[in-house]
Amino acid sequence: MTNATADMPRQCPNCGAARVKRLVYGLVDYELFLELGNSEPDFVLGWWQEPRHDWRCDACGHEWSGSR
Ligand SMILES: [Zn+2]
Repeated sequence: MTNATADMPRQCPNCGAARVKRLVYGLVDYELFLELGNSEPDFVLGWWQEPRHDWRCDACGHEWSGSR
């Protein structure tokens, strides 16, 4: 595991929007995903894409790594 304990940034460093979501790569607990139902998940599925980042802004689509 890499950044599981990284603190989620409050704002997007690109546009400042407070719509940051954690990027999740690889296999995700599918039951957890189903539990979310129609509610908006607080993470984004990155699957196997490269390069890998930690966070994604839901407002502008900016992706970045680190705890900023
Ligand atoms: Zn943004």
